[in-house]
Amino acid sequence: MTQLRIHSIETLGANDGPGLRMVVFTQGCLMRCVYCHNPDTLDPQGGQLVEIDELVQRALRQKNYFGKNGGVTVSGGEPSLHRVVLAEFFRRLHAHGIHTCLDTNGLFLDDELRALYAETDLVLLDIKHIDDEHHRRLTGVSNATPLAVADFRERSGQPMWLRYVLVPGWSDQPEFLEKWARHFAAFRMVERVEILPYHSLGAHKWRHLGLSYALEGISPPSAAAKQQALDIFSRHLPKVILR
Ligand code: SF4
Repeated sequence: MTQLRIHSIETLGANDGPGLRMVVFTQGCLMRCVYCHNPDTLDPQGGQLVEIDELVQRALRQKNYFGKNGGVTVSGGEPSLHRVVLAEFFRRLHAHGIHTCLDTNGLFLDDELRALYAETDLVLLDIKHIDDEHHRRLTGVSNATPLAVADFRERSGQPMWLRYVLVPGWSDQPEFLEKWARHFAAFRMVERVEILPYHSLGAHKWRHLGLSYALEGISPPSAAAKQQALDIFSRHLPKVILR
């Protein structure tokens, strides 16, 4: 029996990929994003184990609600920590004609991940900052592998959406937004870019876990800051959505 360590399941989500989707949030993440709104998903030993069989059966029960565009998204935490199990999960979903989507921070790229990406109809990839130093400040790690994942996906000819969390003072510098957009301007497999304005709804979870919250006192981006990011990205990239 193959098991997956999950945090939770959203029955029908509309924010993580196209259409209505069953969203499985896996447990465990090795990044430490200052704005993480689900710090309770970070501990790789937390959450609960569920059988892949059970997840497939659950997806099948919901399949009628997925419609033409929906399907199953696996998010996190960081799903690529579970790449071998997820490749099997996605293969089984495909056998039932269910669309698969992986929402990832792109922290890994190896043969097991390539096998998972081959079973992934759509990748939602976070490129959290184009400047490596700022990326490390935001997440604790380099942006080298996430950028390599974007390159890999582009070369493999399979679609991806890119996501960018806009945090005042951390990821809203116009010169880096411009650089980010120019970097991806020639990518043909990027179907959409989503700008996700920072919000502080997860701050209480950090406090609850006894962790200090680096963005204490930082407000969500202003309407002008969001518009500026939208304008800069839209100058270079075809389909930019401000969420
Ligand atoms: S990659 Fe996602 S789950 Fe991991 S720390 Fe960052 S925001 Fe949180």
